[in-house]
Amino acid sequence: MSGGKISIILKLVLGIVEYLSTMETEFRRLPSVDRLMSDERINQLREVYPHSLVVDLVRQCLEQDRLSITLGNPCPSVDEIIESVCSRVEVLVHPSLRPVINASGVILHTNLGRAPLSKEAAAAMDMVARGYCNLEFDLDSGARGSRHVHIEQLLCQLAGAEAALVVNNNASAVLLALTALAKRREVIVSRGQAVEIGGGFRIPDVMRQSGAKLVEVGTTNCTYVYDYEQAINERTAALLRVHASNFRVEGFTHQVTIEEMLMLGSKYGLPVLDDLGSGCFLDTTMFGLDLEPMVQKSVTLGVGLTSFSGDKLVGGPQAGIIVGKKFLVDKLKRHALARAVRIDKIRLAGLAATLVHYLRGEVIEKVPVWRMIAMPLGEIERRAETWAQALEGLASVIEGETMVGGGSLPGNALPTRLVAIKEKGKGRNVAHLLAKRLRFQVPPVIGRISGNVLLLDPRCVLPEDDNIVIQTLRNAVASLG
Ligand SMILES: *Cc1c(COP(=O)(O)O)cnc(C)c1O
Repeated sequence: MSGGKISIILKLVLGIVEYLSTMETEFRRLPSVDRLMSDERINQLREVYPHSLVVDLVRQCLEQDRLSITLGNPCPSVDEIIESVCSRVEVLVHPSLRPVINASGVILHTNLGRAPLSKEAAAAMDMVARGYCNLEFDLDSGARGSRHVHIEQLLCQLAGAEAALVVNNNASAVLLALTALAKRREVIVSRGQAVEIGGGFRIPDVMRQSGAKLVEVGTTNCTYVYDYEQAINERTAALLRVHASNFRVEGFTHQVTIEEMLMLGSKYGLPVLDDLGSGCFLDTTMFGLDLEPMVQKSVTLGVGLTSFSGDKLVGGPQAGIIVGKKFLVDKLKRHALARAVRIDKIRLAGLAATLVHYLRGEVIEKVPVWRMIAMPLGEIERRAETWAQALEGLASVIEGETMVGGGSLPGNALPTRLVAIKEKGKGRNVAHLLAKRLRFQVPPVIGRISGNVLLLDPRCVLPEDDNIVIQTLRNAVASLG
């Protein structure tokens, strides 16, 4: 070995030894658990929180510091360690889930919790949350009852259906329907409808979970009645339609109508299942939008089971709603999986209160999602002006579009007025900075950035929240300095 190589190896070894010995010294400087527990500030924590919690957090911080020293960092001071114990407590006792203002321009924003609830729905949820309720108790007979009775008649009345069932969400509604009706058998679906609807929910994957075999027919853009008919055999359990809720195929396309599917279904004695996605009881063309498929129509035409979400265009809490023929709904109710995907008392109360708005014909005045869809442009413009004023010359009001979102009305938008904050202002990129400052306010205001412009849409904010928004905008501007 050459002298040069030996000296390199020697340097390396010395380096490692030095590194290990500094690490050793840094480790020795770490205070003990007892030392930290006797500190005044930790004692203050112990007055509020149980001893076991505080010790646990102290140990977690020391463990993290040990790891950091192994990576070559110096040992933090006692003050710094105590600081991080205190901030760990803060994080734990302030749950990160909190209200935000949705100014993003998407009314049904899945990441922002989809539909906000009406006052009545929130009050109904509050009422059953605070005490006991007759969830599965028949007050007439004093015997065990069913949770479904609280909502079934309401849904049947609204949809014109024989029977109804509510579960955890629409994904579980589809899973339950396929498991109960088509396990180890085949379900025919058009290739153009074997879709991913976001959040990793793919129709083919859910079908596989159910144990049903998915038979895709046709092509991505074109499917005809004979494609379905050729795939029907003795193993076929159902025909499934999935509403293309988040995309639009344009150009040379052909899809089989639900009427044609029903004709085929009755010819071969097969039920038709309709996953509507959003599910809508109102005619969306009233608002200048395309027609979102309506629940009543599927039921009237004779669909076996129609399923949709509670928290999309229905405007209620998260739920999966199933309406349809009694003999099919009964099969679902009796299935063991129904127990695993059942809805809880709180959302049941919220959904029932939401559906009552439909029966009373007061949806557009009471259900926030529909208030937003129906909001007059003039009112939005006036509100946008007051928002812009709060931004002290940084913003202007421009024309724009609101998306309905939530897997409804793909490619459709409502005209709106936007508060636009341009990139340049006060000599820096104000749009991005302000967007960030707005997220740090209480409550955070969530806008959207489009080509270096920050856009805030008043349509998806209820007018009664304007005072909070305006104050928050002022605070954010003030924080820019
Ligand atoms: C949104 C959607 C679902 C899933 O509904 P969740 O209530 O979110 O579980 C299923 N199918 C379609 C077509 C959808 O648009």
